[in-house]
Amino acid sequence: MTDRFIAPTTIEDALAILARDKAARPVAGGTDLVVASRQGRKPLPESIVAIHRIAELGQHAVNDGSLVVGALTSHAWLAGSAEVRRHWTALADAAAIVGSPATRATGTIGGNLMNASPAAETTAPLVVLGANVMLRAIGRGSRIVPVANLAVGPGRTSAAADELLTTVIVPLPPAASGSAYIRLEYRRAMEIAIVGAAVLVTLAADSSIASARIALTAVGPTIVRAPDAEAVLAGGAADPATFRAAGAAAAATARPIDDVRASADYRGAMLAVVVTRTIAAAVARARGDAIPIPASRWAHGQEA
Ligand SMILES: Cc1cc2nc3c(=O)[nH]c(=O)nc-3n(C[C@H](O)[C@H](O)[C@H](O)COP(=O)(O)OP(=O)(O)OC[C@H]3O[C@@H](n4cnc5c(N)ncnc54)[C@H](O)[C@@H]3O)c2cc1C
Repeated sequence: MTDRFIAPTTIEDALAILARDKAARPVAGGTDLVVASRQGRKPLPESIVAIHRIAELGQHAVNDGSLVVGALTSHAWLAGSAEVRRHWTALADAAAIVGSPATRATGTIGGNLMNASPAAETTAPLVVLGANVMLRAIGRGSRIVPVANLAVGPGRTSAAADELLTTVIVPLPPAASGSAYIRLEYRRAMEIAIVGAAVLVTLAADSSIASARIALTAVGPTIVRAPDAEAVLAGGAADPATFRAAGAAAAATARPIDDVRASADYRGAMLAVVVTRTIAAAVARARGDAIPIPASRWAHGQEA
């Protein structure tokens, strides 16, 4: 039961409350925190610091080529931004399929990352895009943490309780790159990933694959890279046989779990298909071909 609620308008005031009130937790859109409490999964914190009135956390810009967005940036903004769709396309693919229009308008990138769900949609794209977050606390200033190192387990992050995630910084991908995010879903809205994959590929001058990063959603306690699959792609031909070999390598090393939504065997089999299709979409985009956003819709009905 919450007995303290405050909605500061500056980052400094929010940090001061988090520093002096050990029970205080931030809430942004509330679509994880409040909904989990209403569904009886997790009680509301004793003390809530609502950060939605802090204008500085809602800003977005492109600085020196990098996308720099405040923690309060909504999925709707990410899915609709022409610049995100053009340069950080996997992030637009992910943001466009979060929940429903209402969830996308209310849910934030900061909340998605800090909730640390293994099925969180924006995390895998941000991992392959090499994104960092800025964490701030009173008395300790700010520090930069790679998104890849933020979640340490389901619902747990490496951030201290008095730290606020203020900014997400996403570097511009190299020239001749393309990215995509695809999830396996049983229905098109109000769904979370059964499995998912984000891929960033960069093509060489001879059209082979110069380098690739792959991150997998919902196959472990946190979102993980797939180094074996990346190694299959690096230096390989950008053709369906190579994509399939990389998909098989990702499935061979992933250790998905059984739960009510899918068996581990089914997840493994589907992961190979999802990774293969995500690579195909990323390579097509790197070549300048149009793959619609979200790529998850395009992926249905593709040949594996
Ligand atoms: C109907 C429905 C459908 C959904 N579908 C999807 C989906 O398809 N894919 C998906 O990934 N998610 C989905 N979600 C989950 C949720 O909408 C997203 O994770 C969303 O991005 C959470 O953002 P929020 O601002 O609402 O987080 P909140 O609920 O406000 O916060 C979530 C957690 O992050 C912490 N937090 C928030 N902001 C900060 C910050 N700046 N610094 C430090 N800590 C912070 C909070 O303390 C809390 O622990 C769905 C939720 C609902 C209700």
